[in-house]
Amino acid sequence: MSSFVHILCRWQRVHGRHDLPWKSNDPYRVWLSEIMLQQTQVATVIEYYKRFLERFPSINDLAQAEQSEVMSYWAGLGYYARARNLHRCAQIVAEQYDGIFPRQFDEIVALPGIGRSTAHAIMAFCYGTHTPIMDGNVKRVFTRYYGIKGVTSTAAVDKQLWSQAEQTLGEAISESQTAVDMTCYTQALMDFGSLVCTRSKPLCDDCPIADSCYAKKHNLQKELPTPKAKKSTPTRHTVMLLLVHNEKILLEQRPQQGIWGGLLSLPEFSDTETLVHYLQNQGLVISSENELVKMAAFEHIFSHFKLHIQPILVKLNEHQQLQEKHLAHAYYPLENWQNLPIPKPVSLLLDTVTTAQV
Ligand code: SF4
Repeated sequence: MSSFVHILCRWQRVHGRHDLPWKSNDPYRVWLSEIMLQQTQVATVIEYYKRFLERFPSINDLAQAEQSEVMSYWAGLGYYARARNLHRCAQIVAEQYDGIFPRQFDEIVALPGIGRSTAHAIMAFCYGTHTPIMDGNVKRVFTRYYGIKGVTSTAAVDKQLWSQAEQTLGEAISESQTAVDMTCYTQALMDFGSLVCTRSKPLCDDCPIADSCYAKKHNLQKELPTPKAKKSTPTRHTVMLLLVHNEKILLEQRPQQGIWGGLLSLPEFSDTETLVHYLQNQGLVISSENELVKMAAFEHIFSHFKLHIQPILVKLNEHQQLQEKHLAHAYYPLENWQNLPIPKPVSLLLDTVTTAQV
């Protein structure tokens, strides 16, 4: 067996993570964990994963749920397109495959939100096929170990990485003349990348493949993977309205596409003047009784921009109400906001309003 595959499997049996809740050969569980783990740390995912499975124990349970409920179980994990795709995917599996996850690569990769690496991981873990994965951890290990230079998101480097992954596995199979234990090898790549060959301080002194590692030999651990050219992150500004009336908060249903798609959020305005104008158009007189309270502004970081949020709290008295509510707006009881599909920065604001009594 190729020393790389063989050594990593041996390392995995002794040092790998054996207590992760998604250790399974059930495609639904593996698929769910793979999607949750994209862009999110293992420690964060564990509780979300357990809660999600408790409520949606099977693909059919997920397919039958309302999207708003699915989103509420995802709220706080970010990258909400993942949850929308997951739900849509469950509906397709329920409708087109009688609720049984497909086995063929072409069928799996055609499902919403499933790329080549996720499809390969599902097949390797659940069906034992020789399908290598290439997620962020594996890219880091491969670029360092094999000395693959260039930005990994470019088509040329991506192709080189996949080709190396196929070759490594192929060599292991032909050398040993037996099948590779794909559950072990796939998990080994994931665990090794996050526990040993880590992003900033790889544990090269404890590494079982250090003797043949290109980066270690040439002292290039910091240079590989090749970093992307840094772009400055633009800042966008928004003013969020926290309109409280009779212990209820006005929330807006976000459109399906775009940031926080499908979630409930606060009505937004380009600036404070536009917000005041909106309230006046609604026949609301801003007086000392229900004055605008400027809460502390803060920034929320997205992958490609920063959002500077200025929250403004307005508490209406019991006689006041909006003259004409926007179709996407509705009041929700403040005491139950934790059960709603709400993005992280909005949940921080609602927490402040309900606990600190601003
Ligand atoms: S020697 Fe260091 S850089 Fe090379 S694979 Fe091991 S941990 Fe990663």
